[in-house]
This record gives sequence, structure tokens and C-alpha cells, in this order.
Amino acid sequence: MQADIDRVVIDRGQIARRVEAMARELAADLEHDLRATGHAPDESGQIVLVPILTGSLVFVADLIRHLPMKLSLELVAVSSYPGQATQSKGAKMRGELPQNLRGKHVVVIDDILDSGRTLALVKHLVQEQAPATIRTCVLLDKPARREAPLRADYVGFEIEDLFVVGYGLDFDGFYRNLPDIVALRSEVSGAGDANPATAGTADRC
Ligand code: 5GP
Ligand code: MG
Repeated sequence: MQADIDRVVIDRGQIARRVEAMARELAADLEHDLRATGHAPDESGQIVLVPILTGSLVFVADLIRHLPMKLSLELVAVSSYPGQATQSKGAKMRGELPQNLRGKHVVVIDDILDSGRTLALVKHLVQEQAPATIRTCVLLDKPARREAPLRADYVGFEIEDLFVVGYGLDFDGFYRNLPDIVALRSEVSGAGDANPATAGTADRC
């Protein structure tokens, strides 16, 4: 696995510091929202985090341990079929979104904001349930490849148009367990392909 790495893009120390800072910012904003709807942070249970599987797993695990308030998690899975795949195009929910978000303070969380289709889809489905507030939070943002007009409320790092793995992000299902965010060697990821960010995997999540 180590031999497949070309270079470290964001190391574990940078990630840890940034995730803690993001959590502090998010917690302050959520506490503000709770007060605005007449709830105390420790007793409300009004906060629901909606992590998008599987890529956000490691990020969410670290983020929630810096959020000191009462909250629950509702996991969702979305498949994304890049343009060159034959099955379909765009993002598609796998299974149902939980139907208990009305009046809640919802935070949708993903590993990386790329074309924007995944986050746009989940945000839309949450919005339909009339939550009190909806926020979006991503560890990485690749604005160069955006198709849906979307910005995340909380962004860990903005990165160039580069396919990365590690810290939850995969290539063909592997490398999620790498503690740093890295670029793979081009022979491994198929970079040099017309579109390296979609090379190799037809169904990413
Ligand atoms: P979207 O294009 O809908 O914004 O992002 C779809 C999904 O593609 C993301 O949730 C993520 O799982 C995956 N993705 C996008 N860019 C990358 C990348 O550079 N590396 C990896 N491993 N996954 C990515
Ligand atoms: Mg994903």
C-alpha cells in the first residue's frame, strides 16, 4: 500500500488541527441556532448529523468527538456514477433518507465536494423535510470541478483538481485506512486518463 503513494497532500497533523477548528466553529454556530429556537445545547437532542457514507466515515468519527453537545447521527449512502460510466450519470441515493428531520438542526457531512451532485442531492432531500436549519460540511473542496452551483458552509481544505485517497477516501474501495490524505502514483490510479478523478471506479461513495 505504501508503495502506491506518490506524495502526501495533507498530513495527519494538519488534518487533526483543522478538524478540531471546524468542530469548534460548527459547535458555536449550532449552539447559537439552538438558543434561537429556545433549546439548551445539553438537553435538546435537536441536532442531527447526516454523514454521507462511506468516504466521510473517518472525518465524522474525528469531528463528533470535538462536538460537546447532544446530537444524533443518521447515515446515508449515495452512489455517484461519473460521466464515463455506462450505468447512469449523477448521484443516486442508496436506500431512504430517515424521515425525522422536521424542525431539527441538520448538518450534512461529506468527505469531498467535487462536482457537487452528491451534496446537492442530499441537501435537497433534507430540505424537503423542513428542518429548522441545514448546514453542509466537507473536509475537502475541489472547486475546479463543480457542476452544481453549491458551496459548503464549512470546508476543511480547498485542493486542486487532483484525485486523493486516505482518511476515509478510497480508490476502488481501498486506501481508506491511510492516516494522511495522499495522491497515488499515476500507474496505480490511472491518472493520465482523460479524467483522472473519475478513472477506475464506476460507483464511488
Ligand atoms: P461529487 O462529484 O458528487 O461532488 O462527489 C461525489 C463523491 O465522489 C464524493 O463524495 C467522493 O466520495 C468521490 N470523490 C470525488 N473526488 C474524489 C477524490 O479526489 N478522491 C476520492 N477518493 N473520492 C472522490
Ligand atoms: Mg462520497
